[in-house]
Amino acid sequence: MTLPVVAIVGRPNVGKSTLFNRIAGERIAIVEDKPGITRDRIYSKGDWSGRAFHLIDTGGLEFGEKDEVIDHIRHQAELAIEEADVIVFVLDGRSGVTATDEEVARLLHRADKPVVLAVNKLDHIKHHEEIYEFYQLGFETPIAVSSLHGTGTGDLLDEVVKRLPERQEEAYDEDTIRVSIIGRPNVGKSSLVNRILGEERVIVSPVAGTTRDAVDTPIRAHGQDYVIVDTAGMRKRGKVYESTEKYSVMRALRAIEGSDVVVMVLNGEEGIAEQDKRVAGIAHEAGRAVLFVVNKWDAVEKDDKTMSRFRREIDDHFSFMNYAPILFVSAKSGQRVHQILPLVKEVAEAHSQRISTSVLNQVLQDATMSTPPPSVKGKRVKILYATQVAVKPPSIVLFCNDPDLVHFSYVRYLENQFREAFGFRGTPIRLMLRRRK
Ligand code: GDP
Ligand code: GDP
Repeated sequence: MTLPVVAIVGRPNVGKSTLFNRIAGERIAIVEDKPGITRDRIYSKGDWSGRAFHLIDTGGLEFGEKDEVIDHIRHQAELAIEEADVIVFVLDGRSGVTATDEEVARLLHRADKPVVLAVNKLDHIKHHEEIYEFYQLGFETPIAVSSLHGTGTGDLLDEVVKRLPERQEEAYDEDTIRVSIIGRPNVGKSSLVNRILGEERVIVSPVAGTTRDAVDTPIRAHGQDYVIVDTAGMRKRGKVYESTEKYSVMRALRAIEGSDVVVMVLNGEEGIAEQDKRVAGIAHEAGRAVLFVVNKWDAVEKDDKTMSRFRREIDDHFSFMNYAPILFVSAKSGQRVHQILPLVKEVAEAHSQRISTSVLNQVLQDATMSTPPPSVKGKRVKILYATQVAVKPPSIVLFCNDPDLVHFSYVRYLENQFREAFGFRGTPIRLMLRRRK
């Protein structure tokens, strides 16, 4: 299920980041009393009235360094218009409508996207009449908000949720493996896809005439149906797309959301970048199966240790996902590209693997016998039994007498034991502790 995207736009210092944190329910982004602060967190999941959505603070996106404020805002707005399902346009209720606000409003009016106006910093009821000034921007009812105090945000979210698109039917059947090919610009994503599609045993399915299908490429290979999601997005080229690293994180987010397996493409020539970690982290947190594909291997000067060195580098940078297999390929020469789909299939199977309760408990028993959980504060932890409650990713509940006494490292130990017994290659697994007397 692909979640809709809500983007926050507006000029600096109106309170976008504060509003973002308020909605995300986390106080992660750093808010300082000066404009142009750096933010770490620009996307999050929001939830209101039973509707989940991605939330993106476009104010935290970085563009070209020489960007003037106005260009910066124009870029934000363009991206929001292109990517978001609903746009929250934030204004400073205390400073009134500025020329920049009018400019943004013009841009947003030209696009055919629902816009909700958040007139922020109206901390007291007595300020609420300031809101009338904002009608001149020509959008539907502006909402008075104080992101600082959290007032009005409920009304705002009501309006946002009302404008989210209808929930989409799942477009592909259960057995189809949805794959996204993710990576920084220029790592060779589209070259890889073209290679895969060009292989003789791959049949590209006929495309029905809907917009959704136009961005996805359904294929059949070795008797298995796949769909490569967001193929169009990968091919997209433009100044804005190229100039912002963080933007491709935003793009990746949607593709990851809509896929079972994430093929994380790294550049063998250039090595691993900060952004790679960010994107891989999203895939991990989202519980998707992952494999690493190191591309441009033809262009790397190699000796007999180059590959193991690169493996080690991946292990170091992505230590939290050492379950993910690694493939060294060249889209240019075609080397090992034919191994990608079979590996995708393998990790997809691990991702939806179901272990029976009896087998699971046999492994649990052996694990707790050979290394019992250490006692904490003189108390003995007892892990009573385990049961798998979900797939994609495999999720296992561990019932124990006191979850608070189970140390993180012991959970890690159990995870390793389960992996040893069941493989789970390429998939994260979730272990959850529950109390049972
Ligand atoms: P951004 O640049 O649009 O992301 O704005 P920030 O979220 O960084 O906020 C800019 C300044 O406005 C900070 O000092 C915030 O504390 C302040 N601010 C944000 N929301 C409110 C609000 O609802 N009321 C008041 N009084 N100040 C706010
Ligand atoms: P994308 O932005 O990730 O989709 O990357 P592209 O597929 O557009 O490739 C970016 C550039 O890298 C192009 O000039 C490709 O020809 C080049 N490229 C892609 N794959 C390889 C490869 O395996 N080896 C070499 N040497 N160059 C490659």
